[in-house]
Amino acid sequence: MTRRQQPDPAAGGETASQLALAALDRMGIEATPQSFAVFHDYYSGGNAALKAAIDGVLEQGQHLTAEACDELHERFLTNAVLAALVPEASLQLADMMATMADIIAHAGADTKNFGRQLQAFAGEAGQAPSGASLALLIQRLLIHTQETIARVDLLERRLDEARGEISELRSSVDRIQREAMTDPLTGLGNRRAFEARLASAIRDARKRRKPLSVLLCDLDNFKRFNDSWGHLIGDLVLKLFAKVLSDSTKGRDMPARFGGEEFAVILPETPLSGATRLAEKIRQELEHKRLVKKNTGDEIGKITVSIGCATLGAKETAAELLTRADKALYAAKGDGRNRVSQA
Ligand code: GH3
Ligand code: MG
Ligand code: MG
Repeated sequence: MTRRQQPDPAAGGETASQLALAALDRMGIEATPQSFAVFHDYYSGGNAALKAAIDGVLEQGQHLTAEACDELHERFLTNAVLAALVPEASLQLADMMATMADIIAHAGADTKNFGRQLQAFAGEAGQAPSGASLALLIQRLLIHTQETIARVDLLERRLDEARGEISELRSSVDRIQREAMTDPLTGLGNRRAFEARLASAIRDARKRRKPLSVLLCDLDNFKRFNDSWGHLIGDLVLKLFAKVLSDSTKGRDMPARFGGEEFAVILPETPLSGATRLAEKIRQELEHKRLVKKNTGDEIGKITVSIGCATLGAKETAAELLTRADKALYAAKGDGRNRVSQA
């Protein structure tokens, strides 16, 4: 472990912001809203899981980078934002429900009142001594009816408004939830979506006694590719590979961006042989793509992927399954890259 990489323990008097900025500077990480938030949280101790993840990386002697900060932000802090937003939205919702209940109670009171008035009018009409007073009675009845209609109309409008606000609120909660599960670059599910789906796929596979496989895919020498062609073209390649994954999978299969240039696929009802065949198809598909620079027509170097496959064991947890797939992936890298290996 390089000492340079270790964040200093909180020194007396310095705020979490100062400590975060100093740590970013010391580690040579660009201060972005994400990297700053990650280190701010590290020093303010708001998120024990985030702190443990950073300490874990540093204890393994690995370097923290701006990208690693993005991933940590995505994993630990976006969730926290969501967790903070959802209770707020439900408070708003509870508020709206109270308003609606109020409106409905008023409408009820108004119609009851109107009913009583009608009864009183009917009583008076029964004993109306002359045509003139009957005409007056009818006039009063008309005014009351119009007033009641106007009041009920107003209540209905308020009810409609409340209904509109509730459905807006619901769609913004849905959107926030969808965004928190989606990788913005590729549109695939992100690691959080992947982990949630893997947990339910494992439960399902156990219940229905079906095989379940996963693929872990990591683009080969992608750092070198970025260095040669630039980050923007690198991003296009990530999108291209995401499309290869989407086009190669179907039904309940789930491709996801695991982070950086790593992708994963959940394959329900798929034994190891089927998973390996699919991985090989994906590998070849990417290998045969011709990458051309749009503005110049220049051919860009080939990009390849290494893939590790594993099938869920009898008592295996999600983490154990992923660790085996990761080992297979590293075996594929060790064997020379651009290949598929199975656990
Ligand atoms: P290996 O074959 O061993 O996997 O080598 P590698 O270079 O692919 O692996 P390494 O982990 O050293 O580097 C991964 C690189 O992926 C580093 C970073 O530049 C690039 N990368 C990660 N996320 C993104 C991204 O969102 N966009 C782009 N363009 N590049 C990314
Ligand atoms: Mg990698
Ligand atoms: Mg790689």
